[in-house]
Amino acid sequence: MSESRETPKSPGPAAAGARKAAIRAAELDAAGPLTTTRERFVLDDTVYLDGNSLGALPRAVPDRIAEVIRHEWGELRIRSWTEAGWWTAPERIGDRIAPLVGAAPGQVVVGDSTSINVFKAVTGGIRMAGKGCTEILVDATTFPTDGYIARSAARMAGLAVRPVEPARIADEVTERTALALVNHVDYRTGELNDMASITAALHSAGTLAVWDLCHSAGALPVALDACGVDLAVGCTYKYLNGGPGSPAYLYVRKSLQERFESPLPGWNSHVDPFGMEPGYTPADGVLRGRVGTPDILSMLALEAALEAWEGVAIEDVRAKSLALTDFFLECVSEYAPPGRVRSVTPYEHRRRGSQVSLACSPGGSSAAAQGGAPVAGEVMAELIRRGVVGDFRPPDVLRFGFTPLYTTFADAERAAWVLGEVLREQAAAESASGSESASGSESAGAGQESAADGDAG
Ligand SMILES: *Cc1c(COP(=O)(O)O)cnc(C)c1O
Repeated sequence: MSESRETPKSPGPAAAGARKAAIRAAELDAAGPLTTTRERFVLDDTVYLDGNSLGALPRAVPDRIAEVIRHEWGELRIRSWTEAGWWTAPERIGDRIAPLVGAAPGQVVVGDSTSINVFKAVTGGIRMAGKGCTEILVDATTFPTDGYIARSAARMAGLAVRPVEPARIADEVTERTALALVNHVDYRTGELNDMASITAALHSAGTLAVWDLCHSAGALPVALDACGVDLAVGCTYKYLNGGPGSPAYLYVRKSLQERFESPLPGWNSHVDPFGMEPGYTPADGVLRGRVGTPDILSMLALEAALEAWEGVAIEDVRAKSLALTDFFLECVSEYAPPGRVRSVTPYEHRRRGSQVSLACSPGGSSAAAQGGAPVAGEVMAELIRRGVVGDFRPPDVLRFGFTPLYTTFADAERAAWVLGEVLREQAAAESASGSESASGSESAGAGQESAADGDAG
């Protein structure tokens, strides 16, 4: 616990509240089924709330990778493709991810980046769609790369692209829509889209549902099979902790696999890769999603990283995630001066992923007019300097990702406390350098501090 929290500069209700929240955090951290999984990761005193961008390093990875390099590469060399299971790693690790996304075995294959898998899924989906289709729908709030790639894939097939808000997809889909590409959780706001109802609406129009799971897999239960999803992609370096640039995955529903035609039919997806035939005949099953030689070091790092999920129930992960984000929102509303941050993440549990995004604006309009400009970016830079790592997304969003396997309630409380501190100092600095008529605003600021009920709550 930091000294500043035990002896706040201005004692009062905020200080008493802080003590209470810290005690509650300790109680919450001592209870529940995921109290020991943090030990499976390499962490330090930093409050790490950026696991939705790059998951922390799982303890099992360094030794495993050292062994792969020393023994499998260094000694077995080429023999490792068969003897160490390198060749079959994409489908083996796919089956390891499958339960986390609600997929029966044989439908997930690992390899390439998410961007490339978006291309495979969208093009493959367009090729399976009815002849009369003229367009595809793309989540209007999508992470940009999905939109860029989908546009290119549609252009190659001569289809139009229509951006549609996820909540509007059911109303906008027509029998001319080949597919819709939707993000399960919005990377900016952390909003969770309803996979079951959107997929059902798409299917009733005869349209394929393609989901991007980058911000949901490993953070909450995903039910690809149960929802009847057609195709899906996701990355493994966020909540799955696979490491920087670890390979992504592609899901192709079993009953569609025979019709799935990859736009990237590399030799690794050939029915007889070592037959070296000039003509292409696809392998059976989800192997069709493979392209070329897999990135073995990253792939085996991911495989070791997935050991952190041993014995973990994804329902417990979801319960802790919601408790963490609820608790963080409460602490923010207690500690932050009013009006400076506002949650753009839905409060309703069924609409929330595993992050909290706070829109951050300068205090008074006069402060904004004085050019206190990239306020949110500065706030995050200051948080990071004080040991609380989240990130910033334009124009004004502070993102805090909660990774239930290793994020603690104490982390959530400390992050909110430091955020409150930074926002109060910023408000004070603004009024000090603000308009001449703002004399006395510093004491007003201090008053706000103790009365803080925040917009975020
Ligand atoms: C993180 C993320 C990506 C990343 O794509 P890469 O090809 O791995 O760079 C793509 N889509 C979404 C929705 C993401 O959240």
